[in-house]
Amino acid sequence: MSTNTTSAYSDFHLQFIAGEWQTGKDDSTNTNTNPYNGDTLVEIQQATKDQLNEAYDAATQAQEAWAKQTPAERAAVLYKVVNILDQRQEEIVDWLIKESGSTRIKAMVEFGATRAITLEAATFPNRVHGEIRPSNTPGKENFIYREPIGVVAVISPWNFPLHLTQRSIAPALALGNAVVLKPASDTPVTGGLLLAKVFEEAGLPKGLLNVVVGSGSEIGDAIVEHKASSFVSFTGSTSVGKHIGELANGGEHIKQVALELGGNSPFVVLKDADIDQAVKAAVFGKFLHQGQICMAINRIIVENEVYDEFVERFLSHVKTLQVGDPNDQGTAIGPIINEKQVQSLRDKIDEAQKEGAKMLLSGEINGQLVPPHVFTEVTREMDIAYNEIFGPLIGIIRAKNEEDALSIANDSMYGLSSAVFTADMQKGLRFARGIRAGMTHINDIPVNDESNVAFGGEKNSGIGRFNGEWVLEEFTRTHWISMQNEPREYPF
Ligand code: NAD
Repeated sequence: MSTNTTSAYSDFHLQFIAGEWQTGKDDSTNTNTNPYNGDTLVEIQQATKDQLNEAYDAATQAQEAWAKQTPAERAAVLYKVVNILDQRQEEIVDWLIKESGSTRIKAMVEFGATRAITLEAATFPNRVHGEIRPSNTPGKENFIYREPIGVVAVISPWNFPLHLTQRSIAPALALGNAVVLKPASDTPVTGGLLLAKVFEEAGLPKGLLNVVVGSGSEIGDAIVEHKASSFVSFTGSTSVGKHIGELANGGEHIKQVALELGGNSPFVVLKDADIDQAVKAAVFGKFLHQGQICMAINRIIVENEVYDEFVERFLSHVKTLQVGDPNDQGTAIGPIINEKQVQSLRDKIDEAQKEGAKMLLSGEINGQLVPPHVFTEVTREMDIAYNEIFGPLIGIIRAKNEEDALSIANDSMYGLSSAVFTADMQKGLRFARGIRAGMTHINDIPVNDESNVAFGGEKNSGIGRFNGEWVLEEFTRTHWISMQNEPREYPF
């Protein structure tokens, strides 16, 4: 339901290609279901490769004129999008709950982040600027231009679908590019079609944003390989990200790629930490969105002296969490996105026990509702500590001392986010700087995203940065143009 007289968006069974809502022409159907109760939300006839080509043609055509529009005109569309998001907040939050299994709390967090990056992107048309650099060649002037890239391919995941899609498409469009987007199959509405409705209502010219819902086998590789785009912005798992990277730079192509991939965030509690505050943070940073966040706490590492105290208080807090209907205000833990993910969590629970972790808290898995599972006496090489969990399971590792805690924290192929709790800020800063990750938060959770601050990871967590001037660089190309103002002398 919308909050005012505007009627709720409909027709989510259609694709948005070349500025028109059209029926997919593939034989296959995407049945979009509510992960909490299994209700069918919408059935979408999927798109074919021809329709993907049509999207790329439309984007290529529309982009040129869009890039020539004044910064004020482009900014105005983005500001209008912010207004529409505000007007339709209730409708959007409702979709996040029913399509992605977001609790109300998570849906509001996601809505806020989406709004913030749109507002930030609205400043980009006026912030993008070139440079004049001195030259060592007599009579030469060097100009560095920043230009739109052209057509950007965007592929987004299901866990924060609205925000992680908007995080790419809003900067891309603001900076004069066009977009061809493939949302995740579990969230075609909040990951794409809903945003297309918003941009359409905001008056974005036709063809600039295309949302193509299709199966990985039909259009997955084709969207990356298409010659019309020279930049691919991918957010998702490390395994698919590697494949995208290879595709984008294999065969005929050398394309720029931004890869925002998986994580294994350590949450370190040093012996001088405020344990109460650390427990509160650990519970929220682990269980928000059922732990299905790239930055979610994946390992809790506690210094030996406070390990037992931390475990006891953590357990008693976790036991208070309500598991159930994500639409219910009091629910902290809603459903897991799909059955495949539930099965992967069952496997992880079995594996943790096989490997000798002690299961202190468990519960019955009911449909796609997985209650919190807490393991202690976990070691760094166990599956539950070494690999990404993406669910409400957690292992707590004992560290001998600060040095050992740092060594465990860094023992990962990922390097996205991280956190350390200590009463001594200097110690915290030293520890934070020792962590090989794109982001570290002292006395807070690893789950943080601010639209004006560099977001991204290293190692197997990806390449590239989002937000602020970092994304502004990412979604533009650099062009050095020099002007030889007087005849230059050549050696021959
Ligand atoms: P996924 O890699 O399975 O899918 C991501 C997207 O890629 C989806 O749209 C999917 O349809 C598409 N895709 C799959 N195969 C493809 C192919 N061959 N060609 C083109 N596209 C293809 O990831 P997911 O399960 O949707 O999301 C969870 C993962 O994403 C986790 O590993 C999580 O850590 C990661 N993630 C990272 C960030 C970040 O900012 N670093 C944010 C959110 C999620």
